[in-house]
Formats: sequence, C-alpha cells, structure tokens
Amino acid sequence: MSATLPRIAENWALFLDVDGTLLDIAARPDGARVPAGLREALTTLSQRLDGALALVSGRTIASVDRLFKPLLLPAAGQHGAELRRSAQAQVQRVACNVDFEPFRAPLEHFASAWPGILIEWKGQSLAVHCREAPGSRGELGVLLADLAGKADGIVVMDSRSGFDLRPTVVSKGSAVEWFLGEPPFRGRIPVFAGDDITDEGGFAAALRHHGIAIRVGGDGKSLAQLRVAQPVEFRAWLSQSAGAPETRASGDAR
Ligand SMILES: [Mg+2]
Repeated sequence: MSATLPRIAENWALFLDVDGTLLDIAARPDGARVPAGLREALTTLSQRLDGALALVSGRTIASVDRLFKPLLLPAAGQHGAELRRSAQAQVQRVACNVDFEPFRAPLEHFASAWPGILIEWKGQSLAVHCREAPGSRGELGVLLADLAGKADGIVVMDSRSGFDLRPTVVSKGSAVEWFLGEPPFRGRIPVFAGDDITDEGGFAAALRHHGIAIRVGGDGKSLAQLRVAQPVEFRAWLSQSAGAPETRASGDAR
C-alpha cells in the first residue's frame, strides 16, 4: 500500500484517468493494455461505492469500453464532451459546436514530413501524438496554436504524448461537476486521480468540492495534494483497497 494515499472511504466518488494513471503509458494509444487484476479491482470498488466510480479520459467512451471489455463503467470521454452516468445509461454528447475540419489538411501535410506522428480524429476532440517524432514538438505546437487561434471554441493542451485539443466548453473538470449532480455520485467526496496537464481541471473540481486530488507520476507543478510515482503503485493501492492481490505490470497483461 502506498504510504501517502489514504484508505478509500465508502462515501467517496472516484474519478480515474485511464492512460498514465490506471495504465502504463504506451507509445501509441492502441498499445495500452489493462493488466491482470485491474478489472476485478475496479469492479469491487465500484460495487463498494454504489457505482460512484467513473473513468475520465481523453479517449472516446467507445475506446475506453474496448480497453476494459467486458467491464462497463460510468465514463466521461473526449475530455468531458461525452458522458455516461452508469453502465446501463446512454452516452450523452455535450453540444460543443466545434469544427476540426480546417485542421485536417495542414495537419496531414505536417505529419507527412514527420514519420511517427499520429493524429486521432475523435469527433469532438483531437489528439496529435508525437512521442515517436520528438523533434517535431516545437513546430507542431506552433502550428496547432495557429490553427486553434483561427477556430472558435477550441483549446490546445500540451500533454505527455503530444497535444490534446478539446472544445472550450468542456473539460475533465466540467465532467466531474456533471457527475456530482447525478446519482450515485451526488453528495459524495470527489477524489480525482490523473497524470497529466489535462487532469488539472479534474483536480480543481475535486478540490472545489472539498475532495482529494492525486497526481500519478511526474514532478511538474500540480494542484494535487497527493502523489504516487507510477501507475503500478496506483493500481496496487486500488487492489489493496479492494482486498484483491496486487496487479502486475502491463507487460503481464492477459
Ligand atoms: Mg492520462
């Protein structure tokens, strides 16, 4: 058990980022793996919290579901542009009114000069991964800032894997606020865990509601009061809280 994280209380609502928090960071999003034991730990914790455990990701909810299959959990996708209150509920799409089409030609042109760049067109958001083309990062950031400056209602965020672009009207913070207005999350203490700049909005929302913010990895500035070094430590905390054996590293995935 991590020495720095408290015991999970029955009146918490858990909000968990996926990549870099629950799962080890992969070079490409389709390389992420759910380690053995994690689904079971999340299932047990979700039951113990009466369903108040949500995954809050930059991925689409469809992509989160594919990763954790057959487990379905409440989820926010695309940085809060997609919301699902429970496993049984329909996915709601927040009206964002953004158009990423003008980004397409310039980005594809840029990517053709930089092998390793991966563009994810997700509908209401966009991710540009450049971990495999690290030399492109500076120029790519300038291009995206320029394109976003000409577009309406789009924010560019630096991320560990490159850049995330989301509608201004949503964020991981707006997702937390939405969940907290809905059962079974309403009235609980929000606890948000994340690993990246894109999670700071979630941290801020948890803290506004007198909750807890946990940063996984990194030593940069963060609103989070609590830190653990690696996803493997964070998973061990979840598993031990759930009373299950420790999960193993992603390399041992089923
Ligand atoms: Mg993350």
